[in-house]
Amino acid sequence: MLVIKNAAVPGSPGNVTTLLLQDGIIQANDTDIEIPAEASVINAQGLYVIPGLIDAHTHMGGSSTFDRPSCGLRHETYDYALARSEFLKWGVTSVRTCGDQSGDMISFRDEVRSGAVPGPRLTCCGPFLQAAGGHPWATVYMKDPELTKQAVVFADQEDTIERQVDRIAEMGVDFIKAFYAHIDKVHYPTAVPRMTKGQLRRIVESAHRNGLPCAVHVDGPAEMMDAADAGADFIEHMVAAGSTETKFTDEMVKKVKDSGAVVDPTMISILRFDQSPGFPSVWEDLKRAVRQFHDAGIPMAVGCDSGIPFVPFGESLHDEMACLSEAGIPASDILHMVTRTNAKVLGLSDQLGTLEAGKKADLLLLGSDPSKDIRSTRDIRLVVQDGHIVTDRMV
Ligand SMILES: [Zn+2]
Repeated sequence: MLVIKNAAVPGSPGNVTTLLLQDGIIQANDTDIEIPAEASVINAQGLYVIPGLIDAHTHMGGSSTFDRPSCGLRHETYDYALARSEFLKWGVTSVRTCGDQSGDMISFRDEVRSGAVPGPRLTCCGPFLQAAGGHPWATVYMKDPELTKQAVVFADQEDTIERQVDRIAEMGVDFIKAFYAHIDKVHYPTAVPRMTKGQLRRIVESAHRNGLPCAVHVDGPAEMMDAADAGADFIEHMVAAGSTETKFTDEMVKKVKDSGAVVDPTMISILRFDQSPGFPSVWEDLKRAVRQFHDAGIPMAVGCDSGIPFVPFGESLHDEMACLSEAGIPASDILHMVTRTNAKVLGLSDQLGTLEAGKKADLLLLGSDPSKDIRSTRDIRLVVQDGHIVTDRMV
């Protein structure tokens, strides 16, 4: 049993709390708790407690550098070990991985879940659906045969969409992921084939028929409108690096809001490629769009696209929060997004996202108040996952 006493509550001056953690669960969170004699006690006086952070968009099989192949299988690369330790070091106790080697990732998810290997708990989509010849198979994956076998399903074959989605669902995935994109990021500004809107709709409907939500990757506003029309639950990205289409009208914002989709802007992944040779800058328009969506009350997740080049695991979530802050979102709202909204996106809001009694014992102690300055999320003193200390900088 672990007790954390005298922890300050961000944004609530003078309010301190004591948390009692046992069996991986928050048993109590209150100002006035009798501390059992057998408990290990941490005095968090002067520190701030927040729920474990969640990265809503990563690629656990990826690599953030170009010096070795990305997306190798789990036992062929040390990227998985690096990803696991980096996430926990940076306070990221849960992630949603959005396209990787499928079978490999599902077994990885289950091993972390059973406690066999340390790492962030994860939800995953298994193989993703895209157009033949399209992004990312023909672009960043460079038509790799192993990846084709493990990770990619070509959806634009009229007679198989429903069966393909059923097959992915049977693997035990947590959600379905579709790519609805046209930019060739490797041979820019070439366009690559994209599935039709009708095909996208059939994917979403098949996901729902299987009781699964559907995440749709888009490159810009027009594709986002099609995703909203198709009934996407999650829209990944808003404006891609290299997009020439960067502005959202009020009608577009309303349409997304009415659709109920959660939008994940993945700002840091766009910023890192915004200066690429030949790419028009989309950064100012992206910031404006994020502010528009926030002001309209559209739920937004906090995801990084970590695991792609220049977007390392763990630390990038703090960079993403800094980008959201630069776009004008208040720190307290960003904290809400990276915990509560992200827990919902993972389908785990009954277990994660707040420090209520009964939820999983994932929490961080910070040296300064993140509701005043979101950069305080980097000031990590302690990370607890499932009631166990996984990162300790208390001395
Ligand atoms: Zn991604």
